[in-house]
Amino acid sequence: MSETIENLFQEERSFPPPEALASRANARPRIHQEAAADPQAFWVEEAKKLQWKQPWDQVLDDSEAPFYRWFVGGTLNVTESCLDRHVAANPDRIAFHWEGEPGDSRSITYGELLAEVCRTANALKKMEVGKGDTVAIYMGMVPEIVVAMLACARIGAAHSVVFGGFSADSLRERIDDCACKAVITQDGSWRRGSVFPLKKNVDDSLIGQQTVKNVLVLRRGENPVDWQEGRDHWWHEVVPEMSDICEPEEMDAEDLLFILYTSGSTGKPKGIVHTCGGYLTGVSSTFRNVFDIKDDDLYWCTADCGWVTGHSYIVYGPLANNATSLIYEGTPDHPQQDRWWKLIEKYGVTILYTAPTAIRTFMKWGESLPGGCDLTSLRLLGSVGEPINPEAWMWYHEHIGQQQCPIVDTWWQTETGSIMITPLPGITTTKPGSATTPYPGIDAHVVDDDGNRVERGHGGILVIDSPWPSMLRGIHGDPERYKEVYWSRFEGTYFPGDGCKIDEDGYLWLLGRIDDVMLISGHNISTTEVESALVDHASVAEAAVVGRADDRTGQAIAAFVVLRGSEVGHDELIVELRKHVANKIGPIAKPASIVFTPDLPKTRSGKIMRRLLKDISEKRKLGDVTTLANADIVEAIRDGATDPAGEDH
Ligand code: ATP
Ligand code: MG
Repeated sequence: MSETIENLFQEERSFPPPEALASRANARPRIHQEAAADPQAFWVEEAKKLQWKQPWDQVLDDSEAPFYRWFVGGTLNVTESCLDRHVAANPDRIAFHWEGEPGDSRSITYGELLAEVCRTANALKKMEVGKGDTVAIYMGMVPEIVVAMLACARIGAAHSVVFGGFSADSLRERIDDCACKAVITQDGSWRRGSVFPLKKNVDDSLIGQQTVKNVLVLRRGENPVDWQEGRDHWWHEVVPEMSDICEPEEMDAEDLLFILYTSGSTGKPKGIVHTCGGYLTGVSSTFRNVFDIKDDDLYWCTADCGWVTGHSYIVYGPLANNATSLIYEGTPDHPQQDRWWKLIEKYGVTILYTAPTAIRTFMKWGESLPGGCDLTSLRLLGSVGEPINPEAWMWYHEHIGQQQCPIVDTWWQTETGSIMITPLPGITTTKPGSATTPYPGIDAHVVDDDGNRVERGHGGILVIDSPWPSMLRGIHGDPERYKEVYWSRFEGTYFPGDGCKIDEDGYLWLLGRIDDVMLISGHNISTTEVESALVDHASVAEAAVVGRADDRTGQAIAAFVVLRGSEVGHDELIVELRKHVANKIGPIAKPASIVFTPDLPKTRSGKIMRRLLKDISEKRKLGDVTTLANADIVEAIRDGATDPAGEDH
């Protein structure tokens, strides 16, 4: 029988934790073993680090699995753990340094943040928003997006943050799906030197819409906007008038905290539901241990609050831990391609958490840009969102981390709420391209098609065998889809949909989505390994591969390659790249065709959209493109791909 997924790529490099970090790390050296001995006891200890109003009387209720409930009977308001207790200790500690894209900046203390959250919460109350309601937040990366989220949490309303780059139609779909009562937005947001019309999109999305009664509008872009009296309210007119005291609503641990739609790499977005107690336990625990946060750290997560990474590791995790963070409003290439490195130098950032897509873009732009800035303040780097190719990991390590900083490659999903597979920087010896081992208390394994655990050295399907506190509680309004998507592949086990292999040391290597696995002459080959073999070549910055239908081999590998710097593709390079893949991981994985392209189709969260490349390769009409960020490139690739070079027949 063929392997569920082949294990082809071998990576020999490894990096033990730096002694200085290990000796004062937040995570105890035996944390994995202790948690494995009694996972619930581990989570109880983590939950106790938060501020509760009423203690729980049951840790886990699994009587209606897969509808699990955690910390049953406990009550809390997450904003008290994130704000009030820190303000009581030191109101002047900085919560956020914020830098706007045009270069303006602000620093906001915990005391100021709490006061603004309370004022905004009171403004929402005045608009008759309360516990049980849902508020859509459609903003850019301004401090007020954090305020808006926490103001909802303060009064027990759920937030549904919709990424501020989505269209009016996408916004409308999400507003309707959870019957939002209010929208919080801006006139416009700064992006690459111009203003994106958020308010205009909100107006368009609300035509004929019934549930939204009020729109709160922050002035930022100063672009002209239409105004609907009675419905629309300027933030600067209503919020400052409000009292800066707002009693936190007492919430059940299992009450709704937010709904967030997955980023849409694979198809129709799903409204993922997260609740208060378990979610905050997971994000707070992982933030402290994975990022090893200390009082004097300056932490920067480059995600957008429109994605789960922004929810968990810009807002709730860092604030629960009293961290000081940087938020940057704009794009990495404005006004120049070294903006991020300038920011690290200016603020003295110590911990950077970003995505492989960004790292590969910087590889393309060249190492002289970070090389021109002082990055010596950095001590820890993180990655999330896609598998990180070993060569991109090494580039991150050398050119950003200056060979000093451990890299935490963190695997998790909107659905999991918090980080699931990750190194702990003071404990784990890392290997480039591996997310290493499950977080303490997480029961992750690799199984074959029948659900049996694969032996070390083999590939298969990632599963999570036991529930965890920050897990999703469902898909909004669709319990059947929840059971079907996540719990039906293997009985009683959570199925994330990702391929994974386990090496001889028990390290986990994520292999991309199961749906993308290519079947070549009876071998199941992961996209990740072929892409990593391509990126391993010195000329390549980024690559995407898909299995396109082929009469002879079932599927043939079609590759799309972005070159580094100013390199231009040519026929000899195609021959060389095919040979490189064959040498690196085996002739079976040699791409049948290679197309050079300046960019790849990506979701708005920056992930490669392979299904569109597959549509192009098989000359089909394109599937759903609403979550596509860069539509032009698809046309360009389509023109290039109609006559792919390097056909191997
Ligand atoms: P959709 O579910 O709508 O298709 P999405 O899966 O891209 O969108 P997210 O929840 O943002 O939405 O992404 C989670 C997925 O991202 C994971 O299932 C995995 O495929 C990928 N991923 C995230 N982090 C990593 C990582 N460190 N290594 C490998 N893959 C990762
Ligand atoms: Mg997903």
